[in-house]
Amino acid sequence: MSPTTLANAFSKDSQSTAVIVPSSPPLEVSYRRLTADVRLFQQKLAKLGIRPESAVSIALPNSYEFIVSFLAAAWQRAIAAPLNPAYKQSEFEFYIDDLSSAVALVPKGAYAQDAAAVRAARKYKAAIVECYFEGDEVILDVKEKGKLADNANAAVEVAQPDDVALVLHTSGTTGRPKAVPLTHRNLLRTMKNIQATYELTRADRTMLVMPLFHVHGLLAGFLAPLASGGSVVVPLKFSASEFWRDFTQHGANWYTAVPTIHQILLKSPLPSPIPQIRFIRSCSSPLSPKVFHELEKTFNAPVLEAYAMTEAAHQMTSNPLPPGKRHPGSVGIGQGVEVKILDQSGNEVPNGKEAEICIRGENVTKGYLNNPSANASSFTKDGFFRTGDQGKKDDDGYIIITGRIKELINKGGEKISPIELDNVIAHHPSVSEAVSFAMEDEHYGQDIGVAVVVKEGKKLDGEELKKWMSEKVAKFKLPKKVFFTDVMPKTATGKIQRRLVAEAMIKNAQ
Ligand code: ATP
Ligand code: MG
Repeated sequence: MSPTTLANAFSKDSQSTAVIVPSSPPLEVSYRRLTADVRLFQQKLAKLGIRPESAVSIALPNSYEFIVSFLAAAWQRAIAAPLNPAYKQSEFEFYIDDLSSAVALVPKGAYAQDAAAVRAARKYKAAIVECYFEGDEVILDVKEKGKLADNANAAVEVAQPDDVALVLHTSGTTGRPKAVPLTHRNLLRTMKNIQATYELTRADRTMLVMPLFHVHGLLAGFLAPLASGGSVVVPLKFSASEFWRDFTQHGANWYTAVPTIHQILLKSPLPSPIPQIRFIRSCSSPLSPKVFHELEKTFNAPVLEAYAMTEAAHQMTSNPLPPGKRHPGSVGIGQGVEVKILDQSGNEVPNGKEAEICIRGENVTKGYLNNPSANASSFTKDGFFRTGDQGKKDDDGYIIITGRIKELINKGGEKISPIELDNVIAHHPSVSEAVSFAMEDEHYGQDIGVAVVVKEGKKLDGEELKKWMSEKVAKFKLPKKVFFTDVMPKTATGKIQRRLVAEAMIKNAQ
């Protein structure tokens, strides 16, 4: 029978390896042991007074304790709400308040250090509990009970397919982050889609380099591999210098990451020999065709770009494994998800024409929490979700994302895709990274700004770049102003927030 909740998404008896944490000494955990640890932890959570539908904020870095507490919360009808442990107090306050979290799980020592998550949880009377792996066990050390009442006889309630298992917020790239509830059904659909797309089996082992507090790491880097009976190597943090050592030592054969991480790996010392890699998956931000080719050549593996969002429990489309065709610059085709390019009135446009990318599938959330206006505008009458991304299909029906509708630069009515400009500028021999954005402009309403990081040892000025660009793009696409910066501001997951890049560049220039 096909599994219907996370609690039966993987084999509980198997002695084969589920998780490896390459600490010293490395921790290697079988499916059987993982299951036992999760069950024990569930009882501890229930005794602590966690009720069905309570939100459990998990402010832990990638670790075995994250994995166990996440699965324990989800299996027992509580809601797992992972949070970036690097948040500042005001950010924790926003998320803990938004979900009325019953408990905040924080790392060992966080209480004594009066960490930001601890202060935020106290403000909203969430229980504060240190959670860590020690000896042979995942420990729950209750520091403050908050609103929770002890419940010594509590029985663990088993989650059902349409219970919410996870709430994550969108990245907030285009505005205030929105809370996305995802049910077991949503998550399992994505896990199956990812498993099918990449033909994952128990023979596969992935290196998890993405944080578990976003859908990318959680679904593609962790849950989908587990659902296939394979295993996951979970370093405590991403380190370019340790990546290949762990990859080789623990026998990984694929990984998924954002383009920023691929680029870091390309610039870091390469392993010799390059290990056998079955495929490399890229997702969450645009992968320029230039980096795509460099990756394939350097690592001698097919690079499969995918397209995902929180509301879809991660993956919507992907390029296929060979012998399927990969289209550099495209995010591929719907994988267990219907994808249509719809105009404002909800009519499908022909291949080659740009409009909004819309999706429908069992993976898609039913709607945001406490956000009726976003829910009303996000779904078409046929139940397609409006992604807010602009794109088109090529002749083979592969999706090409051309920008976010909210981020398109509207220069006097002329809509300019910032991604297109980034890709052009990335080819300049002195440019290491470029991000284009809209700037207020008296004459046009908006004009183009570009932030550029120059390669080490190279020199470039704005006029020179514009002159070079003028041979590649129409005159109206030339930037009004080029800003030079040593580092490009990014989010924790390596995402570019054009709005923030614009603000930082304009502020620095003043
Ligand atoms: P918010 O919705 O709060 O503005 P966000 O959309 O960045 O934030 P996420 O759900 O983390 O929040 O990201 C989904 C978005 O990431 C997609 O809508 C798309 O714009 C972008 N994205 C995902 N994969 C790709 C890709 N391969 N290429 C380009 N963009 C991508
Ligand atoms: Mg979004």
